[in-house]
Amino acid sequence: MLQNLELVKDKFKEFPRKKLAFFPTPVHKLEKLSEFFGVNLYLKRDDLSGTIVFSGNKMRKLEYLLGDAIAQGADTVITFGPTQSNHAMQTVSACRAAGLKPILYLTTFVDFDENDIRANMLVDEIMGAEIHIIPSNGEPMFIAYERSYALAKERAKELKSEGHKAYTIPVGGTSPVGDIGFAEAIIELHQQMMEAGVKMDYIAHSTGSGGMLAGLAAGKALIESDVKILSFRASEKKDDHPDWVAEIATEILQNLGSDKKVTAQDLNMDATYFGPGYEKPNALSDEAIKLLARNEGILIDPVYGSKALAGLFDYIRKGKVPKGSNVVFWHTGGTVAFFAEKEIIGDIKN
Ligand SMILES: *Cc1c(COP(=O)(O)O)cnc(C)c1O
Repeated sequence: MLQNLELVKDKFKEFPRKKLAFFPTPVHKLEKLSEFFGVNLYLKRDDLSGTIVFSGNKMRKLEYLLGDAIAQGADTVITFGPTQSNHAMQTVSACRAAGLKPILYLTTFVDFDENDIRANMLVDEIMGAEIHIIPSNGEPMFIAYERSYALAKERAKELKSEGHKAYTIPVGGTSPVGDIGFAEAIIELHQQMMEAGVKMDYIAHSTGSGGMLAGLAAGKALIESDVKILSFRASEKKDDHPDWVAEIATEILQNLGSDKKVTAQDLNMDATYFGPGYEKPNALSDEAIKLLARNEGILIDPVYGSKALAGLFDYIRKGKVPKGSNVVFWHTGGTVAFFAEKEIIGDIKN
């Protein structure tokens, strides 16, 4: 039985928060694609979260993370990501709005031209972030990040000796502090769909660092919803990644005063659709971009959303999501990637 959502929402008021974005984000039906696929397909628009047009899902974490940073007396924020990180860019814009100094450690998984800075990195530069570039040297993501963490620690020490206080946000903004924003977001979505008179069968979304999923899974358990969450991976992860995500979800539940638990078995992570790799397009993701663009006039990003949408479309075609289902696809932003390096965009024009 679904819990009383207004009562559950009260629990979130105890946590420090810096209001930054435009919530609730809209949700609307995709009429033509619904007809095309024989399901009722809705789009939840976290790409419109604000406050700048290149926004996305990270604003939900950042409201709580920057709230925590401010409560701790920080004046500087350090975070990490690939050079074209949506999270890093949204952190920079959120920091500027909140009056905090942003510092980035960006890893080069895709080569970029120093004389032709594009997309998220260009926004980082315009907003005046302190940027440190860390070459990945062909190593796996998590190893390259270890080196960034060590450098950031040194930088934080240096700042401390100068009388500043740095608050460090992990890759993707993923931690129980920030991910609680997605426990709240799934309640927001339930309320919107209830108002529209629609009982959701599925929520589909792209998963990267896993924070969004941790929050959604925690929120689903908290309100006792039976909606199925389909999480399509955008990148390679260590084998214990689902356990780690489940642990964060359980910690969020604890912080919200619930003794419910989330386990790896509760998560439906599918790694089938992100090949050949992170920031590298494939035929199905290109098709998903074009289906959404040419039927609905909406852009979905090439790195995350399109791979998840490709997965959802494949599930529908294979009957894994039955015809007639009520499905919400969560648009997580990142469309500025169309203006990034050619390698990330691929041959989408053809
Ligand atoms: C970060 C991001 C995701 C994944 O969110 P996580 O919390 O890292 O799993 C999905 N889509 C876009 C566009 C993102 O920027």
